[in-house]
Amino acid sequence: KSGEVIVQFKSTCCYCGVGCGVIIETDGQRVVGVKGDLDHPANFGRLCTKGATLHLAVAQNDTRALFPEVREGKLQIRETASWDRALDAAADKFAAIIKEHGPDAVAFYISGQLLTEDYYVFNKLAKGLIGTNNVDTNSRLCMSSAVTGYKSTLGMDAPPASYEDIDHAKCIFIAGSNTAFAHPVIFRRIEDARAKNPDLRLIVVDPRKTDTAQSADLFLPILPGTDVALFNGMLHVMLWEGLCDMAYIRAHTEGFDELKETVREYTPQAVAQMCGIEPESIIQAAKWFGESGATLSFYCQGLNQSSHGTDKNGALINLHLATGQIGKPGAGPFSLTGQANAMGGREVGGMANLLSAHRSLDNPVHRQEMANLWGVDSVPENPGKSAVELFEALHKGEIKAVWIACTNPAHSMPNQTLVREALERAELVVLQEAYRNTDTAAYADILLPAASWSEKEGTVTNSERCITHVIPAVNAPGDARPDWEIMVDFARRLGQRLGKVDAETLFPYQNVEEVFNEHRETTRGRDLDITGLSYALLDQKGPQQWPFPEGATQGKVRLYEEGVFPTASGHARFANAQYLQTAEQTDARYPLHLNTGRLRDQWHSMSRTGSVARLFNHAQEPVVSMHADDMHRRGLKDGDIVRVKSRRGELVIRVQTSIEMRVSQVFIPMHWGGQFMNGAGSNALTTSSFDPVSKQPELKHAAVQVEKL
Ligand code: SF4
Repeated sequence: KSGEVIVQFKSTCCYCGVGCGVIIETDGQRVVGVKGDLDHPANFGRLCTKGATLHLAVAQNDTRALFPEVREGKLQIRETASWDRALDAAADKFAAIIKEHGPDAVAFYISGQLLTEDYYVFNKLAKGLIGTNNVDTNSRLCMSSAVTGYKSTLGMDAPPASYEDIDHAKCIFIAGSNTAFAHPVIFRRIEDARAKNPDLRLIVVDPRKTDTAQSADLFLPILPGTDVALFNGMLHVMLWEGLCDMAYIRAHTEGFDELKETVREYTPQAVAQMCGIEPESIIQAAKWFGESGATLSFYCQGLNQSSHGTDKNGALINLHLATGQIGKPGAGPFSLTGQANAMGGREVGGMANLLSAHRSLDNPVHRQEMANLWGVDSVPENPGKSAVELFEALHKGEIKAVWIACTNPAHSMPNQTLVREALERAELVVLQEAYRNTDTAAYADILLPAASWSEKEGTVTNSERCITHVIPAVNAPGDARPDWEIMVDFARRLGQRLGKVDAETLFPYQNVEEVFNEHRETTRGRDLDITGLSYALLDQKGPQQWPFPEGATQGKVRLYEEGVFPTASGHARFANAQYLQTAEQTDARYPLHLNTGRLRDQWHSMSRTGSVARLFNHAQEPVVSMHADDMHRRGLKDGDIVRVKSRRGELVIRVQTSIEMRVSQVFIPMHWGGQFMNGAGSNALTTSSFDPVSKQPELKHAAVQVEKL
């Protein structure tokens, strides 16, 4: 309106791990507009449809949780309560359970969408105050195989490349990622690079012929779960063709001779059989990858959400180590982070097996370092429960109270039947959330309203290790408070009840910057050292990549440029993995391979994007996509209602022919939940089988049947 004063604030988009910079426009009360930040190194002003409609998503705040709510019993409805009453009730119950059953009888399940400071306080509360490592996160469903892939080969959980490497690459290899939909601004950068350099080759590996695959120079439509076979086969060809950089291998790596023995069996013909593709395309991919001199690999959930996710990550990283294509412009393995701040969560050790600043829980020296930094006697040694294990323990009654923050496990966890039963059986479910209508909210005994995007201060780290300081542009609605502040308030109350007088000194923060400064100190001397950063510096110089130690003038664009790796020997380690089948096999009863994933214009369980009408232009409702031959065989036509059934559950959905699908494979988007179908969305069907190392579940594959209703 004329005369209205619009104020602008810099921030980041809260959806995916690209971490685009945004300018938030407010009228002092509400967010009235969003545009891309021309100065942000992730996107230089670009936004995808989701980011560009953030202001519309937050304008529809009739689903926001505004006040704490408490219910006295499982059969009661929640009633509005004061913060004091809600937090006292939570602290009373947590303290009683801990005193009677021990610290491992409680758990926290948090989110890759929290800010780093929020994450830090949750982690310290569980490990430093309560004495349990039962703090895990929805990043377990997203990036934990990328973490174990990096650590087992390169020594640390650190993506070595940067977005600017897209402009230096001569070959881009995308595996298990529909980048065009899931990380659209990265895909635009790839398109730009291809337009500037027509010789830049794009290879895409995916069971589906996605939008990303359709633009590839070479597409390898492998059978689900056969990635390790393909990567081993490509290495076999690279050896045969003399494309391995033996000088680099000798100087900077270990374990190559053993791997050579393993890949001997992975001939192009054998791998073609395993992967269901032509031998020529394997040879072509190996040659383009090996000959380019600058191959950049992007990968995401197709590799991570697998019962062999660590092996898949490792086998792809092998190709970079074998050809010496790492630590050089335009080259390196690059995991695309799913959520906005999954990286920040990993940095503060916000998972059941990690400690702050990339320390490991199983390392006694690291545990003692954290105990010293926090000023506590010890950090518990006993590994905490990972996401799947946590809900299984809740189901069995081993965990009795769970605190869930900023995530929706009654939608996003695999095997929903078990997860929902677990939430019903829990003695106490506390939900700290910005929205009161999520599937999980139905199970909450205590609902705590949290501030959300544009309403709180802290830092986020995107896929390329780049940290941005975000500040509140508007006040949070109702009584909603920042997540870190809620946890500090709870920690002090719980500490009193547990007789831990040190709770006040353990959580002394007056503001969020004090949390950041403490986190920063834990990174001193570590691979992700950010002792040179401060809120003031980030505001003055803009987003910065880690490491950024004290005295540095800029972060590091590329890691391992000198060929020295953060391992005991300083050498990178080749992963020696055999191809193993998916956890669940198809059979006569469940003959189809189910794949799940994102659509272009929706985000997770649609708490935000579901309120923006224009985001339904791309896909109005969920469908199961199927090959025409499979439709014909079942007498199906487009739009028919079908029942999709797995060994764990079923759902009802429309069916649609898709040229993206191979025969015997179907795809269902992950966004819609129980309110749209007679089930719990795609996770009514998925399996909770997980990778033995990363504990990441195989959300990308289940055996299903489809029948006409
Ligand atoms: Fe947001 Fe990701 Fe889109 Fe960028 S690419 S605007 S971070 S959803």
